[in-house]
This record gives sequence, structure tokens and C-alpha cells, in this order.
Amino acid sequence: MLDSTQLFAMHNIQARKWHFHPAQLINICFEFHTRPFFQFAFSRLVETRFHELTMEHRDMIGPNVLQAVADVKEVLDEHNQIVATEPPIITSHAADCGNPERCGEDWYVVWWNGMGRFLLDGRNPLKYDDALKHFEVLEFGEMGYGCKKDMLALVKEGFGFRHAYRCVKSVGAQLAEKLITVVE
Ligand SMILES: [Zn+2]
Repeated sequence: MLDSTQLFAMHNIQARKWHFHPAQLINICFEFHTRPFFQFAFSRLVETRFHELTMEHRDMIGPNVLQAVADVKEVLDEHNQIVATEPPIITSHAADCGNPERCGEDWYVVWWNGMGRFLLDGRNPLKYDDALKHFEVLEFGEMGYGCKKDMLALVKEGFGFRHAYRCVKSVGAQLAEKLITVVE
């Protein structure tokens, strides 16, 4: 069990968790047999580029966490490629849509040139939410106003990515449970 000084330290770390490297946070969880910021740290590790992880960071998180990060990264990469290349289909056009066929084509093309490019950019791939911000201000050709509005609302709901975020969270939670025995 943590003594009061340790609890105070944990509380402070929790409040300043953005200032720590996620590998450090995971290491603290191991050290103190506690899990409060493990999931948070795991999600941030998944977003960290591999080449930015030093040997020291890798030692801090250990082989199990490193492997899990690699696995989740791979799943997310594949997912990202699917989202980038398969725009959601317009299932019903708005009342003000003048040309549904053209509207659907334009949506597809703008998605591919916009989201596709932003998400898959070799040098500077954007995260889904950031990509959307750039995407929504593009010209949408002959898309109907209502259709554009509906589709943007749909994709802002996190089309395709809600599941991915949940996946990262649940892997993090499972790992914490498996690797850290909380001493009560
Ligand atoms: Zn339409």
C-alpha cells in the first residue's frame, strides 16, 4: 500500500501527467504498483513515433508494453489506410441535392484528395481530427449543401475511428491489469 507521501506524489504526477514522457509514467506505475495513469500513458505511447523512443524509454516500459504498442500501432495503421481510401457512402441525399450522382462522385473525389492525402501523407500524416479540420474547408464541387452538412456531421462523429480509440483504451486497460499487481 502507498504511504501518504507516495499518495501525494502520485496525486501530483497525475495532475502534471502531460509533463512526463509516457514511458516514465508507465515506469512509475510499475515501480509503485499502481495504475491510475497507465491507460493515459499507453495511449500516448501509441501516438509516439517509434524512432522517438530511446533505449532508455524502451527499458522503462519493458518488452510486454513495447510489443503491445507495436501491435496496436499496426492495427491503427491498417485502419487508417482503410478510412483514408474508403470514404463513407452517402446513403440518402438531402432534399436540396440537385444531382445525387454527381454529388456522390464529388464527395468521393474530395475525400480521396483531402482525407486520403492528409491521413496518408508520407512526411506529415495528420491525425483524423486534424485531417478533418483541413478537410471541411475544402471545396466540395457540386455536392448539395445539405449532403455536405450531413456527411461532415457523420465523419465528425468519428466515423471509423471510435472503434479504434476504444481498442487502444481496452488494450491499455488489459495490460495494466495483467502487468501491475496493485498492492492494497
Ligand atoms: Zn447529394
